Amino acid sequence: MPPLPLITAQTEEKLLAFLTERGHTKFRAQQVLDWVWRKRVTSFDAMTNLPPALRNLLSENFRFHTPEIVEIHGSADTTRKFLTRMEDGSLVESVIIPAAAAENGEQADRITLCVSSQVGCAFGCKFCASGLLGLKRNLTTGEIIGQILSAEAIAGKRVNNLVFMGMGEPLSNFDNLEDALEIITSHRGLEIGARHITISTSGFVPGLKKLAAYPRQIRLAVSLHGATDEVRDQIMPVNKKWPLSQLIPALEEWGEGQEPDAHAGIHPHPGRERLPERRLPPRPDRQAPARQGQPHSVQHRGGASVGTPFGEPLPRLPGRRPQGAHPRYHAV
Ligand code: SF4
Repeated sequence: MPPLPLITAQTEEKLLAFLTERGHTKFRAQQVLDWVWRKRVTSFDAMTNLPPALRNLLSENFRFHTPEIVEIHGSADTTRKFLTRMEDGSLVESVIIPAAAAENGEQADRITLCVSSQVGCAFGCKFCASGLLGLKRNLTTGEIIGQILSAEAIAGKRVNNLVFMGMGEPLSNFDNLEDALEIITSHRGLEIGARHITISTSGFVPGLKKLAAYPRQIRLAVSLHGATDEVRDQIMPVNKKWPLSQLIPALEEWGEGQEPDAHAGIHPHPGRERLPERRLPPRPDRQAPARQGQPHSVQHRGGASVGTPFGEPLPRLPGRRPQGAHPRYHAV
């Protein structure tokens, strides 16, 4: 018999449907979510303001579980990588990234978590160890959420920002990702603002189209790695199926649904290694045209930022602002 579903993998909508089908009110669903996400209990018996019959119903249909933490590397004031073992024995990496020191020199209180979305990856980018593994399976919604709960247990504080830049191509696991995003952004869930979440893609166009239809203002990063199809074809097999001539219109479509300051950061680094985007003040040297050998070349198109590695020329984007014309810059 398959294990019971995790209570931490239930969106508000799904839990409400489950309870109302069994004669319970919306208020009861809200109470359950309050116990799970505000009070952070780990058993149904602890939900003391629920009638015993409802607690029994919940324990007969759901369970609590967080993945086992098997390794932690790093220290509290630096980036910490941790390895969790899923229930089938799969090992998944996540990275806790503390915020940079605040202006007064004190350590900022915010932390970012780099989350994995799959075990291995089918996309086979030449520079990426996850690609060498091949795809083992998608992570479930509960396993995605479990990484956040594990990170909070390790850090002893709430995660404030999420970057889906760990193992896997998140947009190819869209259904589980979408449920996880609902739980993460809900004010009855983890309550992390959509604009504090970045999804990184290698350029998986069908997933980008689904994300374009997703109503929340999630941020997007695209691992470009090369400015031409010739370069991308050599190092990112995804480009052979969805070349720049398809990727760029898909980004345009995604951008149409965004509010003005939403943006896509198109960056040169492997998704699993990329640190969160930092906004930098304008500096004259960043406004100059890219030169060969410079690590970053950043341009903006409306609300989008694009960058290529080591000064490669950018692909032609319709309506792109002249380089340096935008007052904000992003380190990529
Ligand atoms: S870079 Fe991302 S999409 Fe490419 S193989 Fe690695 S995990 Fe997969």
